[in-house]
Amino acid sequence: MTNFAETKNLFHLPEGVIYLDGNSLGPMPISAMNRAENVIKNEWSEMLIKAWNKADWMTLPRRVGDKLATLIGAPEGSVATGDTLSIKVFQAVSAALKLNPSRKVVLSDSGNFPTDLYMVSGLISHLGPDYELRIVAPDEVENAIDETISVVMLTEVDYRTGRRHDMMKITEKTHQMGAISVWDLAHSAGALPVEMEKSNAEFAVGCTYKYINGGPGSPAFIYVRPDVADKIEPILSGWLGHEAPFAFDLDYRPHKGSERMRVGTPPIIQLSLLDEALKVWEGVDMQDVRARSIQLCEQFIQGIEKACPEFQLLSPRDANSRGSQVSFAFEHSYPAMQAMIDKNVIGDFRAPDAMRFGFTPLYIDQEDVAKAIEIIANIIKTKTYLEPKYQVRSIVT
Ligand SMILES: *Cc1c(COP(=O)(O)O)cnc(C)c1O
Repeated sequence: MTNFAETKNLFHLPEGVIYLDGNSLGPMPISAMNRAENVIKNEWSEMLIKAWNKADWMTLPRRVGDKLATLIGAPEGSVATGDTLSIKVFQAVSAALKLNPSRKVVLSDSGNFPTDLYMVSGLISHLGPDYELRIVAPDEVENAIDETISVVMLTEVDYRTGRRHDMMKITEKTHQMGAISVWDLAHSAGALPVEMEKSNAEFAVGCTYKYINGGPGSPAFIYVRPDVADKIEPILSGWLGHEAPFAFDLDYRPHKGSERMRVGTPPIIQLSLLDEALKVWEGVDMQDVRARSIQLCEQFIQGIEKACPEFQLLSPRDANSRGSQVSFAFEHSYPAMQAMIDKNVIGDFRAPDAMRFGFTPLYIDQEDVAKAIEIIANIIKTKTYLEPKYQVRSIVT
């Protein structure tokens, strides 16, 4: 059994804050501070360039990739790290299109995170006018997978509503129709059990600063199914995805396996913090995390619906169809969220009207949820959100 009281002690949270936004930016694991200090003070400053070998910087991306692989049910060596999730989406979809060249349509849904759609639009505009990005409503995806589709690119858990796709079923249909599967695990990895190997999907991508707590801008990851990896001709053919980067050959030969999805020099400081954050997961059972996350979400939904009848639940009511977050719509969503943040209950707002709350059992418990409900109920009852200071929009919502 995972000891959540113990994992909670591994994180730093500011005094009094109930943090329900780990689905957007995870909090700092306490040991990240020492690790950052060590990388800067002992490795970078003292070893200088020798640290690539002496401090094992060069193998860090792969070692971190293997830890991430464990978290998403993938075999060793199948996950490469680096860059941002937007870049990894581009790499996965471009590689997938090349593996299925007789078809030209990428299918996605209107609940997807915009950057995923933007990256594919950019990619296909470069490939030529016969390519198409087809966007359907989330519940129409399964029917829309037909023999014209080259690649099905979906985010398992909707960032706005928490709605969860049935990854096994959709991947199966994708393969039946001769298409290739790309899954975005941004709101899945570290949030719920993911079985990449079992799903048989060819590609998955994800970020590490949300549920994995790697810190702002920590590197993204890409999974490639081992039997597919060696067939990929990377579009972003950077030197660190080369078979022998330090041979400095003029021609590009991809590295074996998923390492070919690496591009350039890894961000060592950020990657070290991610490595540290991944240590928190040792001894954590993802089934326990899921069970606890469902419990917390249910507690929150019940409490809020009772206390704030003005709110409408935007998330699926059925826990199985939901990720690890709960969203509500409300006429005054934006100022209400600002008032909550002001009272130390931190969630966030997503246009047009969603208040999002993420539930992360590693550091959020039932007592936190009960307290959050009480504070929110009070804000709504007293209508504090009508104060002018809560109406002001910031750049980041
Ligand atoms: C958070 C998120 C992103 C962010 O992409 P970055 O390149 O890391 O900024 C992309 N896609 C999805 C589905 C997300 O949830």
